[in-house]
Amino acid sequence: MLPKIAFVGTGGTIASIGKDQFDLLDYTATDQRLDSVTLIERTHLQGEIATIVPVNFLQIDSTAITSDDWADLVDLCYELSADPELQGIVIGHGTASLEETAWILSLVLDVRMPVIVTGSMRPLTGISSDSHANLAAAIRVAVARAHEPGVLVVINDEIHAPRAVTKAHTLRLSAFQSPWSGPLGYIDGPRVATIRLADSPCQGNFARELLRHLPRVDIVYSHVGADSLAIRSAVGAGAKGIVSAGFGPGIGTPEETRALGDAISAGLVVVQSTRTGAGRVVDSTHHRSLGIIAGNDLNPQKARILLALCLARGDGPREIERIFQSV
Ligand code: ASP
Repeated sequence: MLPKIAFVGTGGTIASIGKDQFDLLDYTATDQRLDSVTLIERTHLQGEIATIVPVNFLQIDSTAITSDDWADLVDLCYELSADPELQGIVIGHGTASLEETAWILSLVLDVRMPVIVTGSMRPLTGISSDSHANLAAAIRVAVARAHEPGVLVVINDEIHAPRAVTKAHTLRLSAFQSPWSGPLGYIDGPRVATIRLADSPCQGNFARELLRHLPRVDIVYSHVGADSLAIRSAVGAGAKGIVSAGFGPGIGTPEETRALGDAISAGLVVVQSTRTGAGRVVDSTHHRSLGIIAGNDLNPQKARILLALCLARGDGPREIERIFQSV
């Protein structure tokens, strides 16, 4: 008997219909995305690797995902995991915000099976689309890791950790990378090879109810001459936290730095990340003197999610610092 795997579609390019096979770039103009049932029918994957249970959920572009959608998705994963025959869950997702959804799932989900997030860079109907291949690979990984809990990203024949993976190119099939750390494994034809395990002590630590009450946390991007406007606007808009996407080592302009200090005095929590795309922001005398928390290896969008979850739980700056450093 084939293993039973649920497929939850959220929309995205993996489910998108372009106007013809050469429509690889502007296919969102059709605004057509298949639901899970139709997508599984179109890919002819049913009964090939697994018995797939398609679950209709969302049919949106992933730029439109909200924290309420995340909360609903988490609830759905818990509901599905109550089926004793189910061995894994595959989530189809737009690539724009895929890394953020995978990361928050890895922080909140605590189910007894693998949850594999996948997407594609070319629409389902595009020439040499990666939709079918990525979906098949994600199902293979779900089967191979049945009963092993944990969220993984599977795309372009690679397995990535939610903490490390990022979309590093706008268009290429190889857009998803884990800078410096590399993938956790590969899918070569039918063979799934895990070369190392994901290692994220944050996993499953946050209650899913927090997703319904995430506070405002803004990201401020540094550049030459950046002033305090964005930071002051964030404070004025009621942000409870700010993530600074700073220059290389993890620092903003002098004016930004002063404004971040003021934000901390006003009670906000500030995390220093970097716009470099890779590497750790480490604690420094400069950060300590201002009360800024070093963002470690998390890119700004992932640091934002972790900070929002900590703040929703009521963690204070010391505890937040401990969580950011606990890798
Ligand atoms: N626009 C798409 C999205 O939903 C991009 C993609 O899936 O590749 O994120």
